[in-house]
Amino acid sequence: MLGSGLGLIGSAFAQGGGGGPVRELPPSQPTGPPIPEMEREMPIEPGRRLGWAVVGLGKFALNQILPSFGESRSSKLVALVSGNRQKAEQVAPRYGVETHNLYDYQSFDRIADNPEVDVVYVILPNALHAEYTVRAFKAGKHVFCEKPMAVTVEECETMIRAGREAGRKLMVAYRAQFEPHNVEAIRRVREGEIGALHLVTSDHGRILDPKDPADQWRMVKSLAGGGSLYDIGIYSLQAARYLTGEEPVEVFGQIVNKKDDPRFREVEDRMAFQVRFPSGAIANLSSSYSTSSVKRIQAFGEKGSLILDAATEYESNKLTLRTEKGRQEVKMKEQSQFAAEMDHFSQSVIDNREPKTPGEEGLRDIRIMQAIYRSAQEGKPIALDATGSLR
Ligand code: NAD
Repeated sequence: MLGSGLGLIGSAFAQGGGGGPVRELPPSQPTGPPIPEMEREMPIEPGRRLGWAVVGLGKFALNQILPSFGESRSSKLVALVSGNRQKAEQVAPRYGVETHNLYDYQSFDRIADNPEVDVVYVILPNALHAEYTVRAFKAGKHVFCEKPMAVTVEECETMIRAGREAGRKLMVAYRAQFEPHNVEAIRRVREGEIGALHLVTSDHGRILDPKDPADQWRMVKSLAGGGSLYDIGIYSLQAARYLTGEEPVEVFGQIVNKKDDPRFREVEDRMAFQVRFPSGAIANLSSSYSTSSVKRIQAFGEKGSLILDAATEYESNKLTLRTEKGRQEVKMKEQSQFAAEMDHFSQSVIDNREPKTPGEEGLRDIRIMQAIYRSAQEGKPIALDATGSLR
């Protein structure tokens, strides 16, 4: 379904040899065929959709996830879990959630007795992901968990084991793998449009705001697990992995913290990191909590390159391809990456198949990021084995 509805803008490529000047498209005057509709399946009737409970009514849940249920075809919001009853009671009627389906963190385990809930979506600070995932499995529910999957490798392994023991599925919310421009970029790299892929660069940065409650726990290591790398550098790392389709054999990281900045007493500000892959491809990646917003991914191959800029915004991302034929903007029909990832998980549960980004995918990133921290600490590259563990 995803990635099938591409439309090319920019049929007016530079003519002639590869060495000729690259023609830029006028920014607001796209040419070429109209953009076809994405092949989007019709919603199934509400009674047959899986019921989801959202745990944590913070910034991301309220602003992005709850509204996205409106666009989903096989997932419906049926329950909320929040420490703030008043907030839950205000939010519930907007999404048709009934009062008897409101829980707090103490009463959460009673969700086991609620047949309306099939899936629990954990949207809490990172250090709480493991606890609520395990409790949800014990309640017999499937779990969709925000990134990063957890704080430690051991927590991830416990979550995976708990899912297996309960006979329930676990998926990590890697929305970029469901975002149409990223999906299309992966397809084009795999089909060889830019030739052998030699270099990926990706940068994710924003300003960490100590006045924003959503950023306050991000400054506390025991809640966040790490700094910019865990929070947004994970998108840079994911990009390198999903564009190459390979797993790292070596990582090298460097941390830069501004001296005396109270935001970075416990977690890192800037992380520059390099990842080497078996084919020889290299990724030059970064994350930052002290630069203005950047969410960019670039892939450079023998025959061309592609740029996703922005790459990981919630909407309006942009994919540009540069080959010997010239430069083209690849327009994709906007589609909610949140609804797409949730529906993918619901469908995986319905069809009893492995989701695209299961717990093992989240665990692998935590292993690699732990190795990057270790490399930064020791000031030398760290070799990894095929599972992402230290060699
Ligand atoms: P947030 O602080 O706005 O939300 C966290 C929620 O957890 C709040 O409602 C808070 O009250 C609750 N909470 C429960 N126990 C808590 C405790 N002990 N300390 C602090 N808060 C507690 O944060 P957020 O930005 O919504 O992030 C939540 C999760 O979602 C994180 O894991 C984050 O990485 C993830 N996230 C993912 C994306 C994405 O694009 N996939 C974007 C933003 C956040």
